[in-house]
Amino acid sequence: MNVLVINAGSSSLKYQLLNPENGELLAKGLCERIGIDGKFTYKPQIAGKEKQDAVDVAMPTHSEAIQTVLNALVDEKNGVISSMKEIDAVGHRVVHGGEAFNKSVLITDEVLKAIEDCNPLAPLHNPANLIGIRACAEIMPGVPMVAVFDTAFHQTMPPKAYMYALPYEYYAEDKVRRYGFHGTSHKYVAARAAVMLGKKPEELKLISCHLGNGSSVTAVDCGKSVDTSMGFTPLAGVCMGTRSGDLDAGILQYIMNKKGLNIDEMLNILNKKSGVQGVSGVSSDFRDLENAGKEGNERASLAVEMFNYGVKKLIGAYAAAMGGVDAIIFTAGVGENSKSQRMDIASGLEFMGVKMCEKANDVRGEEAVISAADSKVKVLLIPTNEELMIAMDTMNIVK
Ligand code: ADP
Repeated sequence: MNVLVINAGSSSLKYQLLNPENGELLAKGLCERIGIDGKFTYKPQIAGKEKQDAVDVAMPTHSEAIQTVLNALVDEKNGVISSMKEIDAVGHRVVHGGEAFNKSVLITDEVLKAIEDCNPLAPLHNPANLIGIRACAEIMPGVPMVAVFDTAFHQTMPPKAYMYALPYEYYAEDKVRRYGFHGTSHKYVAARAAVMLGKKPEELKLISCHLGNGSSVTAVDCGKSVDTSMGFTPLAGVCMGTRSGDLDAGILQYIMNKKGLNIDEMLNILNKKSGVQGVSGVSSDFRDLENAGKEGNERASLAVEMFNYGVKKLIGAYAAAMGGVDAIIFTAGVGENSKSQRMDIASGLEFMGVKMCEKANDVRGEEAVISAADSKVKVLLIPTNEELMIAMDTMNIVK
């Protein structure tokens, strides 16, 4: 079975064609500058097929973008399938499913309407996801499509974890609550962790650390998300590449008055100019920070320390919330690649049964146990694969 996975943004569209039955990736790529000048990238994963790198293709709308993807996939010379009939289903990444969706669903007219109702909760992302879905429906009529939500996995959180201590009507009438994001990634690595540990998901208390440009930490008890660090928006939780993470709301009033900023300008600073970029003044990329730190840049080192400390505190908090932890998972760009940050975050936790191993941790980008053999709590490196998770959900629903 082949599933086309689509992640549509307002002017870009990432795609992968894969077989969820065996995990085989056939091709991937992206369309960029849709509605502007159109750049198309195609990376077939089959030997002998030629790739295309940011070539000019007119893509006035997402419909032409999808058509361009399909043309490349079925191209006689460099395609990976012989006809569109070999695409059995399409899985769409949708950022926000609000409280309406606690799992992936087959897309129908009612589902489209319900996704649209979530637009105010993710005004930059959901409308773009919907455009991608509608363009696919137009170009590929009759092919079943599934929506996979970033928020769905976290819908199992109990009210005490998702409520904010605000007047209750903000929740009841305005839907203000913690939703959480990166759900597809947390769900995938939690499932992989159970396989690696040879246990059923229901037997495990896990803490999943998705550490990338955007970062979130999730407590997974018995296979269900019970708390997560991102909130009403992806601005919350640990500090990130350019996002501040949690902060005292009183700071906003103080800075806005002092610098004469309006709320949009303030939010732009919190989203784009804060985090490790803001603290270091060097970069939002952790590799640059590590290098700058080695050269003696104290603010770069401080930014990394703050990030690692924030993740460590959440591990402690979630172990307390679940009454223990069996395994801690590291994933995404930083989690998969930075042995020094993993070591910094997970060391000093011997009191709660975590014992790291320098040698086991000397690994990157592959599934591995990185704690010591006698560590009571296992520490795992698990590369995330959101596209495969989307394809698997799509397959399970379409079947
Ligand atoms: P996104 O949130 O954009 O999906 P990724 O999960 O791809 O982010 O993570 C990107 C981040 O991973 C980069 O900003 C970089 O800081 C970090 N990263 C990648 N490789 C390394 C490495 N070798 N050491 C430290 N950090 C790394």
